Amino acid sequence: MYKINENYLKLPESYLFSTIAKKVNAYGAANPDKKIIRLGIGDVTQPLAPAIIQALHDAVDEMGRAETFRGYAPDLGYEFLRKAIAENDYKARGCNIAADEIFISDGAKCDSGNIQEIFSTDNRIAVCDPVYPVYVDSNVMAGRAGAFDKLKGTWSNVVYMPCTADNGFTPELPGETPDLIYLCFPNNPTGAAITGRKLQEWVDYACRVGAVIIYDAAYEAYISEPDIPHSIFECEGARNCAIELRSFSKNAGFTGVRLGFTVVPKDLRCGGTALHSLWARRHGTKYNGAPYIVQRAGEAVYSQEGKEQLKKQVAYYMNNAKYIYHGLREAGYTVSGGVNAPYIWLKTPDGMTSWEFFDRLLETVHVVGTPGSGFGPSGEGYFRLTAFGSYENTVEAVDRIKGM
Ligand SMILES: *Cc1c(COP(=O)(O)O)cnc(C)c1O
Repeated sequence: MYKINENYLKLPESYLFSTIAKKVNAYGAANPDKKIIRLGIGDVTQPLAPAIIQALHDAVDEMGRAETFRGYAPDLGYEFLRKAIAENDYKARGCNIAADEIFISDGAKCDSGNIQEIFSTDNRIAVCDPVYPVYVDSNVMAGRAGAFDKLKGTWSNVVYMPCTADNGFTPELPGETPDLIYLCFPNNPTGAAITGRKLQEWVDYACRVGAVIIYDAAYEAYISEPDIPHSIFECEGARNCAIELRSFSKNAGFTGVRLGFTVVPKDLRCGGTALHSLWARRHGTKYNGAPYIVQRAGEAVYSQEGKEQLKKQVAYYMNNAKYIYHGLREAGYTVSGGVNAPYIWLKTPDGMTSWEFFDRLLETVHVVGTPGSGFGPSGEGYFRLTAFGSYENTVEAVDRIKGM
C-alpha cells in the first residue's frame, strides 16, 4: 500500500490568495453594481514592451523554418541569454559572476521552491517574518519545518526574523544559528530595501557561521536609491555563501511568459562539493529548459530599446507607488515601502487586524489589498497594496480610501 508525503498535510488549510478571491467573489456577486479595484495580488498589468514583442515574433518565425528551428534548449540556458545577464546584471555592477554560473529557468517561484532540494533535510532555515510564503511552504513539503503551531502561526524548526517598524523592516541577525537564510530585497510584502552595509553584515555572518543565503532579488529593477545593492554579489565574500534568484516577471512583465534565473557561484562549496554541480545535476535531471522563444524575449530585455522601454514601464508602476504612498500619508496612515519596491506596507488604523481592515476596505470603498497577517505573524496589523494596477485605478482606489 502506497503512502503519501504526509508533510503536505501539515500545511495550513487556506492559501492567502484563495481566501481573498473567495471573499472578493462573494462580495462582487452580492453587489454587482460596485466597481471593485484590485490592488492585492502581485501581478503586473502593463502589456509587454515592443522590443520584447518583436523578439518573440522573430523567434516564432525562426521556429517555423527548417534552417532555424530549435528543439530542446540547453538544460542550463542558451549562451546568448546567460552572457547578456552576466554582462548587464553583474559585470556592469562590478560583480564577478560568469555566464556559466547562471542557470536559466521558467521563473523565480520554481527556483525558490526547488533550491532547498540540494540541501540536507536536517538543515534549519531562517526566514523574515513577514515572508513570501514559498520559502517556508517548500521546506514544509520537504519535511524541514517541524510542526505547525496554529496559535502562533509558526513552524517549530524555522527561525523567524521579525521585520517590524522598529528595525525598518530589515531583519536582525538571528539568535539561533540557521543553515539556510532566505532574504528577499527589495522585499515582498513590505516593500523595504536593505542597504549595502547591512547586507554586507549578513554576508559576513553567513560566511562566519557556515550558512548559505538564498537571496531573492526579483524586485531589483525597482531600486531608486543609490546605496541599495541590486545584487548580493555586490558584497565582498558573497561568492562563498550566497545563491541569487532573479525573475523577468516584475522588471519586464513576464508573469505570463515565464523566465527567471539562479546564480550559483562556483566558489560556493560545502566541504569538497560545489553547490553549482548539485544544482546543475538537479536542473539537468528534472528540467528541460525554458522555451527558446522566451529566452530570445529575455535577451531583448537587455537590448538598448528594451532597456529604455522597461525603464518607462517600471517608472509607470513607481509613479503609482508614489501616489499610493503620499495619498495614504495625507490621509493619516502610517506607510512604508514604495520607494525601492512596487509595494506599499501600511499600518492598519485603530488597532484593526489585517483581515478586519481587508473587510472594511472591500465593503466601504471596494478596494482589494492583501492582509499582512497572511505573510506571517509579524504582518498582523499591516496591509499590502501593490503599485501594479493601472494609473487610473490606482488614483481612484487611493482617492476612495482618502474619503473613507
Ligand atoms: C513575484 C516574485 C517572484 C517571481 O516569481 P516568478 O516565478 O519569476 O514569476 C519571486 N520572488 C518574489 C518574492 C516575488 O514576489
